[in-house]
Amino acid sequence: MLVEIAVATAVRGTFTYRVPSRLAGEVMLGSRVAVPFGKSARATGYVVGLPTVPPPGVELRDVAAVLDEFPPFTAPLLRLIRWAEDYYLVPPGELMRAALPPGLNARKGAAGPTRRGVEFVTPAAGAADALAKTGARAHARRAVLEYLLARGRIPVEELRAAFPRGRPALTALVKAGLVSLTTVSVAAGGDALLPAAEYPPPLTPDQSAALSRIAAAAGSFRTFLLLGVTGSGKTEVYLQAIAAARAAGKGALVLVPEIALTPQLAGRFRARFGDQVALLHSGLTDRERHGEWLRLRRGEARICVGVRSAVFAPVQDLGIVVVDEEHDPSFKQDDGPGYHARDLAVVRAREEGAVCVLGSATPSLETLENARTGKYERIDLPRRIDDRPLPEVRIVDLSRIRKGAPLPGLLSPPLQDALAATVARGRQAILFLNRRGFQTLVLCRDCGREERCTRCSVSLTLHARRGVLLCHYCGATERMNRRCPDCGGERTGVGVGTEQVEATVRELLPQARVARMDRDAVTGAGDVAELLARFARRELDVLVGTQMVTKGHDFPGVTLVGVVLADTALALPDFRAAERTFQLLTQVAGRAGRGDDPGQVIVQTFHPHSPAVAFAVGHDHAGFAEVELDRRRSLGYPPFGRMLAVRVEGSEEGARRTAEALGEAARQALPAGVTMLGPAPAAIERIRGKNRWHILFRAPTPSALRSVHRALAATAHRPPGGASVRFDMDPGSML
Ligand code: ADP
Ligand code: ZN
Repeated sequence: MLVEIAVATAVRGTFTYRVPSRLAGEVMLGSRVAVPFGKSARATGYVVGLPTVPPPGVELRDVAAVLDEFPPFTAPLLRLIRWAEDYYLVPPGELMRAALPPGLNARKGAAGPTRRGVEFVTPAAGAADALAKTGARAHARRAVLEYLLARGRIPVEELRAAFPRGRPALTALVKAGLVSLTTVSVAAGGDALLPAAEYPPPLTPDQSAALSRIAAAAGSFRTFLLLGVTGSGKTEVYLQAIAAARAAGKGALVLVPEIALTPQLAGRFRARFGDQVALLHSGLTDRERHGEWLRLRRGEARICVGVRSAVFAPVQDLGIVVVDEEHDPSFKQDDGPGYHARDLAVVRAREEGAVCVLGSATPSLETLENARTGKYERIDLPRRIDDRPLPEVRIVDLSRIRKGAPLPGLLSPPLQDALAATVARGRQAILFLNRRGFQTLVLCRDCGREERCTRCSVSLTLHARRGVLLCHYCGATERMNRRCPDCGGERTGVGVGTEQVEATVRELLPQARVARMDRDAVTGAGDVAELLARFARRELDVLVGTQMVTKGHDFPGVTLVGVVLADTALALPDFRAAERTFQLLTQVAGRAGRGDDPGQVIVQTFHPHSPAVAFAVGHDHAGFAEVELDRRRSLGYPPFGRMLAVRVEGSEEGARRTAEALGEAARQALPAGVTMLGPAPAAIERIRGKNRWHILFRAPTPSALRSVHRALAATAHRPPGGASVRFDMDPGSML
């Protein structure tokens, strides 16, 4: 017996091995095996084919062992992987390794947890008083308790999504009698026996119409774009569509951008479907992820809620695939095997004959165009639940205001006034700025010396609280000196970051309770949850933060959203800069006015007339899409063409030589209709001491790009100058 094996490293192609008779019954399509490979006695491999004739002139080696009780890859998953391997031009073994939970490699045949109910946690009556007495030393316990007091009775799963390492704290709280755990049993059919509050609410007419169209498609492959404004009840539509699929005995896969930022979502699925839900995200330990994966593989759990890599989760008999916030950039992997999970989700649905639902308030232009051409069917939820109005959006043109006095922390008088009024009325505000730190550039007043990272071609950001200059690409730090190291002149900083905004708000409104949410202020998922919980309990008046504050949070007390500078992403040398800006503005604006009070949004910008800003003001997704699609069409950019980025990294000399050799090879074999941009140094020329070059190819179809890849394969395999070469199909970022 012969097998075709993909080896779990970055090598192209597959290899043929012989199966010794002692393993004959065990090796199957999709099995994970150990094989001798090159000089290594044991490498991990995956069985991707069962050839009948050996390749000529090769001495065959034997499969050494089978690594699992049953093959980790089912037939539809293998088809998906072969498709992805071909489309994304990635080595199959690398992709297959990335598709499996990390814990799988640790132990063979792990038992995995068996669960029979949904555990709920409830804060006890005296918990709030106890919290007041808890010292700062009991930090973790305090954070968990704060979260529980804000949310009330919740499934333990939600708490675990919010506090990945919160188990000891929870145990301590139970011991202290401050919270209680109850297990709700699960009926034989899998339905959790839940209190009435957890039963689905009656749908709005828009939601019902959406649900019936999705349900009517059940049993065959169809893709829907569910375009619903923020707060229109998309999640409820997913939940009920999945309930319908489960009633027909089918499984479901739900992909979400990031679980730590939206722990409630995981909780909503667990509360509705109980034990049938398996969660796959990076907040779990390897062992837990492996356990959840096994429950899916064995068919004990039939619904998977997970992040990007969960597109490969072994859900059995898939009936529906949901991608929430389908426009989110995190679905595209930017290093390693560069697949796009949203696009693979559609392919997976096709391979399994399932319905696919892509949901967003700000769909990507790729998806929107697919809906326009009829490839996808579009369903609209144009209204918020309870007909709450979308917030009013006002522009502050900074180019006019700046002509007067300099703005403290970039906060203009209108934004300062709105902030003060909001806090005075006991309401809450969110201030969004997509730049961390205090000042983004430090200069010498005398000689003009600019402080730059020695390993990356970027300037260092001043983090005043820590007293350091920090590189946001490699993390290198330098002590901040007031004097220039070259001439001894006085140094000055420019460019406002979130840290400065926070400090300015504290100065302007000394009585306001202010906190900051960015990667400096919160380091773990637990910190995020704690901060969001305090904000939800209205112990904070103003939350300043990076894009972390734009995600799907639901805070009824927020009546003001301030965008400190809308232009940070607009200036990036990336053809999606306008689209990303529009999405961020719309998403953050959607945080305002979710309660009974109407919301207000103030957008500060130097470019009030750029389409991304102007259409976000009118909540006009269609208007923005029309203008932006026209522009993309005229330039041949996606969705009207495909792109392949070839990314080269190496020494200064090596990267240049490799990039030039690749450019030359491409020029000689450039298929008709393909344009080549570059080779050129990347927008960020150096990261971590490695020089970076890019070549971009644009073509009407992916197949033309595949022939470019073929033309470059030999050079990429033996790059002159020894640089590394990565092919990135449908690149997410141009930087
Ligand atoms: P989206 O995902 O579109 O932002 P959600 O599904 O989170 O919206 O819904 C927004 C809020 O409205 C949530 O608090 C949700 O529980 C509530 N909600 C959704 N559908 C209904 C409904 N049919 N009746 C009452 N409340 C609903
Ligand atoms: Zn650096």
